[in-house]
Amino acid sequence: MNTYHSGLTAQFDALLAGREQELCAVLHTREAQADTGEARSDVIDFKDIAIEDTLAVVDEVQAENAAHELEQVLAARRRLQDHRYGACLDCGEAIDLRRLAAMPATPFCTGCQAVHEQEHAALARH
Ligand SMILES: [Zn+2]
Repeated sequence: MNTYHSGLTAQFDALLAGREQELCAVLHTREAQADTGEARSDVIDFKDIAIEDTLAVVDEVQAENAAHELEQVLAARRRLQDHRYGACLDCGEAIDLRRLAAMPATPFCTGCQAVHEQEHAALARH
């Protein structure tokens, strides 16, 4: 298994910085939509409605997911700076490099992630 090493810091920092920008853009789009929505809430204009439909609409769920992922990205960047990046936060084992390349913000190894997902699923059922 290939694992993360300090020679990859710049590469992963660039990956995470790019993801951070994307997520910030999503959240700003959401804020802008909330602003314009309030400003003309009492004016119903069919032209405006048509334009809104064609815009990429960022809904509440998307914004929440983006905010959550942004937290993970920022935490991952802090771990990069502190030289703690690449190790699972739960078990402390090195995370597979392929997993990190696909999901640079992930704080868990594959095994611990599966446990967390099962816990979430169990909570959702109750
Ligand atoms: Zn783990």
